[in-house]
Amino acid sequence: MGGSSAAAVLAHAGLRVLLLEKNPRLGGSCSYYQKHGFRIDFGTHMFSRGPRGPIGEVQRRIGLSAEQQVRFVRAPTICQVRGLPKPLVVPASPWRLPAFAIDLIRTLRLSPREVFDSGRLFAAMFTMTEAEIAVWDRRTIEQFILRYTDNPRLIGLLGLLLGLYFVLPFWTVSAGEAIWCFRQMVRDNYVSYPLGGSSAIPQRLCDAAVSHGATIRCNAEVVRIEPAGGDRRARIATRQGAQYQARAVVCTTSLKDLVQRLIGAEHFPARFASRVDGLRSSYVAVQCKIALRRNCISHGCIVGAASRVPGLKPHLLSLADYRRIFGELEQGCVPSVMPLYCQVPTFFDPSLAPVGRQLLSVCGVAPTLDVSLQQPERVWAETLLQAIDQLLPETRGERLFIDTISVRSLGSWIGKVNAPAISTAQTTDQVGARRPSVRLPVQGIYAAGDGAGGRGVGTELAVASGMLAADAVLEDLARALI
Ligand SMILES: Cc1cc2nc3c(=O)[nH]c(=O)nc-3n(C[C@H](O)[C@H](O)[C@H](O)COP(=O)(O)OP(=O)(O)OC[C@H]3O[C@@H](n4cnc5c(N)ncnc54)[C@H](O)[C@@H]3O)c2cc1C
Repeated sequence: MGGSSAAAVLAHAGLRVLLLEKNPRLGGSCSYYQKHGFRIDFGTHMFSRGPRGPIGEVQRRIGLSAEQQVRFVRAPTICQVRGLPKPLVVPASPWRLPAFAIDLIRTLRLSPREVFDSGRLFAAMFTMTEAEIAVWDRRTIEQFILRYTDNPRLIGLLGLLLGLYFVLPFWTVSAGEAIWCFRQMVRDNYVSYPLGGSSAIPQRLCDAAVSHGATIRCNAEVVRIEPAGGDRRARIATRQGAQYQARAVVCTTSLKDLVQRLIGAEHFPARFASRVDGLRSSYVAVQCKIALRRNCISHGCIVGAASRVPGLKPHLLSLADYRRIFGELEQGCVPSVMPLYCQVPTFFDPSLAPVGRQLLSVCGVAPTLDVSLQQPERVWAETLLQAIDQLLPETRGERLFIDTISVRSLGSWIGKVNAPAISTAQTTDQVGARRPSVRLPVQGIYAAGDGAGGRGVGTELAVASGMLAADAVLEDLARALI
């Protein structure tokens, strides 16, 4: 998402652009594969702002007409929440929110005090100025919630709601980032999925880049980048033996990969190299792609959690329970409660499967590759499957095939060290003014993607960063010409 956005903006601005992709197919986390007539996303995605966020912005910026832009499809419900005493449906239209609130209060048996405190929190969130939000960049979601309630169950529920998209525990996520993203999502009211699958977005951006003269080479893995010297040309070498020179290199792998593996930390100021070394990434997920004989699920997205411990009910977890569960993950143990996120691509675009069939993309949180697993990888996949059986029982007996995508295979596809969902996580010291810049402190090297710059949820963060990186390149080249 970051690379295709930057390429499209730069080519549209008239620069000679070469895009090198190590895989046989474009798209990275948003790429796909095909099997038995199903077009299957490599990741598991919902788009929190659809065309109203950075993905729409970048397409408008490069002059794509409304007809040429990727079409996003909204579902009448944002998601269905399972694993509660009864399933809850989160509506997309604002006029259905009061009924939803009543349903929520009844299902979770929220006390009048809990309702009042939550109301105060949301009122504050939606009336804060940008400057007030920025103040919260350096403090956590948990600290923000604690201003309104000390009820452990409510802290857990609100923390999960605000922190989910960052694939991190809410006591580490920046409150400013979470409030900003949540507000944009509610205001834009366009949680959606694109026609053609997630890959339609990078594909459209790359097509646009090519139409403006860019060249795209797949199966071209960059193994070395030498920053520019006196001739102001950086040198790039690929595993396949090609060599290139460029005035600017925009790199879309993680900052750690770029600095430590592709360039070498010795080329950077020591303080910068040490900061990159200390960057924290998000967690990631083990995924199951499930092909169903028929349409079994009538929602675009289902979220929930399945408990492996009798008596431990996901909706009654205390703060201590949440800390223990994330502690288990940090130790490399399968968590006692497995959160599950199931996206249904064919709900939005039935053409992604043969007629009448349904495709599910399901993921459950898992540690990145730097954590040594206490149980073999297959146990994580089995636990996710048990959670699927528990939370999506209507799919049993209807499955044509299930593909499991382990963290390791995701990592080898996206090429980011340790395979994170978001390579520079949105923690208190990695967002806003403290987010690493898209401009690196060596001449002619830039970062685009979820590793540097930008604000927002996953894919949208990456696109915002791609536009920032392109702007930085254009600005620096223009300055060099003056
Ligand atoms: C399981 C999962 C679920 C997610 N769910 C959501 C969601 O619901 N909503 C959301 O918005 N976000 C979600 N995300 C996050 C989102 O997918 C990412 O943050 C975003 O797509 C990252 O984009 P990127 O451009 O930074 O990197 P990537 O998509 O990882 O792209 C990097 C590209 O660089 C290429 N590359 C790497 N190294 C080299 C090299 N040496 N030479 C050449 N090419 C190279 C890779 O092959 C890849 O194409 C999810 C992520 C995961 C893993």
